[in-house]
This record gives sequence, C-alpha cells and structure tokens, in this order.
Amino acid sequence: MGLIRAQWVLDDERGPVADGVVHVEQGRIVQVVSGAASIRRLVDAVGEKPSDLGSGVLCPGLVNAHAHLELTALGGRLSGDGPFAAWIGHLLRERAECTDSELARGVHRGAHELLDGGTTAVGEISSLAISPPWAESSPMAVRLYHECLDAGDRARTREALEGVREQADATSLMPAISPHAPFSVSPDLLAGLGVLAKTGGLPITIHWAESHEEQEYLLQGGGPLAEHLGPSPRRPGLDLIDEAGLLGPRTCLVHGNHPVPGEPERLAAAGTSLVHCPGTHRYFGRDTFPLELYRRAGVNLALGTDSLASNTALDMRREMALLREVQPGLAPAEVWAMATRGSARALDLEGQVGCLSPGARADLVLFQVESGNSESILDELTAASPPVTALFLEGCRQERMPRAPMGSDR
Ligand SMILES: [Zn+2]
Repeated sequence: MGLIRAQWVLDDERGPVADGVVHVEQGRIVQVVSGAASIRRLVDAVGEKPSDLGSGVLCPGLVNAHAHLELTALGGRLSGDGPFAAWIGHLLRERAECTDSELARGVHRGAHELLDGGTTAVGEISSLAISPPWAESSPMAVRLYHECLDAGDRARTREALEGVREQADATSLMPAISPHAPFSVSPDLLAGLGVLAKTGGLPITIHWAESHEEQEYLLQGGGPLAEHLGPSPRRPGLDLIDEAGLLGPRTCLVHGNHPVPGEPERLAAAGTSLVHCPGTHRYFGRDTFPLELYRRAGVNLALGTDSLASNTALDMRREMALLREVQPGLAPAEVWAMATRGSARALDLEGQVGCLSPGARADLVLFQVESGNSESILDELTAASPPVTALFLEGCRQERMPRAPMGSDR
C-alpha cells in the first residue's frame, strides 16, 4: 500500500494536474487524486502519509511497442546508407559473429537504456531465444513475441511452427508471435501461424510495408529481394496477412511506410494497430512517414525504438521528439498518447500499462520539467527529453536501476 505525491501528476483524462497523489496497492494503481482537500481525505482514509517526490511530473512509464533487444550488441556496427537488402545481409553477418553471451549482455544493456529514459514496458521480438530468460525475470512489463520465418525454404516451415509450440510450452509469459514479414514468411507458414494465433488468442506483431524493395518483390516479383527469396507471391503483403487470419485487434503491424490506397482503412476496420519507429525512419533516410493517412482512417498508432541495428538510441523520449520534429502540426497530447496508451493497445496490454487508470500496473516515472503550467508540460515531455529522476515498477521504487550482469562490456 502507498501514496506517492508529486508537484504534477499526468492524469489520463485531465492531463497534467498540480499537486497529485497516486494511490498504489499491491503493485497496481487504485486511483489518482489532486488538490489539497482531496489528498487530505485520501490520507485520512488510507491512514498513511504520502511519500512526496517533490518537483517534477509523475507519469505512467513510456511503452515501447517495437524492440529487438537481442540486437543491442550490434549498436554502431551497421549503416543505413545502402539498399535495404544489403542492410539485412550485413545484419545477419554481424549477428553471426556475436557470441550468445555478448547478445545476452546486450539485452540487459538495452533494457537498462530503456529504463533510463522512462520506458517501463516493451514489445520485444525474440529471434534467437536470447531474450526470453531476461523477459521472464524482468520487473518491466514485457510482451515477448517469438519470431518465425522460413524465407521461402519449405524445409523451414514445419520447423518454424514447431518452434512456436515449443516456445509456448517453455515460457511462463503469455505466448505471442511475430511472423517476421510477408516477404520472409511463406503463405503456408502464415496460414499455420494464423491457426495457432486464432486457437490460442495470441498477440501478433508483423513487419509490414517497410521498404521499397519489399513492395517491389511482393507486388512485381522483382528487385534485390527476389534473388534471395525465389518466386514472389505477387500479392500485397496485407492481403497475405489478412488471408491467413492474422489481421485483427490483437495484431500490430510495424513500419507501414508504403501503404497502398485503402490499406489504412482496412487496418482501422480490423482494429489493427500500426507502430511507427521514427529513429529507424531517420536512420534509413526515408521519405516522410504517411502518418496523416493512418490518422484520417482512425488507425491506433504506436511508437517503437526498433533495435540498435537501425537506430542510435533506445529512448522513447527521443522517438517522440523526432516525430514532433517532422510532424510539427501534431498535438503534443497525441504524440504522448502514441508512446503510452497507443503502444499499450498495440501490445494488447491496454489498461495494464501506459496509463494511470485503476487496475493498471503502478509503473510510474517522474520527469523533471521546467514548465510551470499544464499547457506546456506535454509539449516539454514530448519534445525536450526531460530527465528521469524517479522510477517505480509495480509500485517499487528502483533505487538503483537494474544493471547488466557481471562481465558487462558496457
Ligand atoms: Zn523490427
């Protein structure tokens, strides 16, 4: 049980309110109150003095809807200057040169970097089974997706399906899957994953419409990806995902840089979320993200850092600031919602993280802001990467945030 008081509290409905208290019990939020009289009544009812954090704005932790912490060890080793297919090849070669323990240390380092920036929940994609042990013991909220792909090789299709079943048995976390992308997962594997997802009610994430090369291969059957993947299905990726039964409210698609007309509306109708990764977008020097198409269609939008193989930091504050730079017309409240409630919904964790609602995890972050009024606080939170001076996971203050294990190469 506990009462946590701060100069400002970011209420879900009202925005920043002065002098607020978050009431926490057993790691969950009970309620948020503000103003001296309401706080006094709460203190009397609970019979406990609030722990006063002083200056700053107390917020729900940020939610990173797309990460590959297993690739943290590759930070700084790749370049986004060349073609996308060349980047994939480079990534696979660099990853093969890392030992499992280097990759595992990277996972811990990446998680620590997220916490440093006020991110308390993450959608992590595991390709190599390196991040599951971390995810199982992490005090963060982790949606762990098991990645599957067969890259046009029929021999790998069955193996990939078996892998999902084994992973589901091995983990104490709710199983979730990530068919890698419609160009790297055969229609047979997509169909098999669709059946598993439907039977198990599994959360799903899929890279979709990320690059020109992907669209060229899927729609026309040509381009550099055709050399590695064999014959193209010559179908839009979204049709393949939809036909496999993988388009629904528990699915989030990632990137969506090249939707064809009508696709944003299909996402909205299915209740499917879209995750944008501003840092990765910048890394590859891509054209402006077509955010307005998704907004107009009413698609739930989320933000993610992606990995250090295509980004220079794992910091959701920076992702918000990058988005505001390129979309200056976007309201700060909307950008904040993408990095909190929108990302929570994308991970099928709505109401559990990214909000200060009753029943949500008490994952709280105190950001130091210079603003003295509620109007400019959201502006500062989303554009100025304010420092984090206190962080709580399930109501427990992280006095020393979890560091990488001994032997860290940090
Ligand atoms: Zn990714």
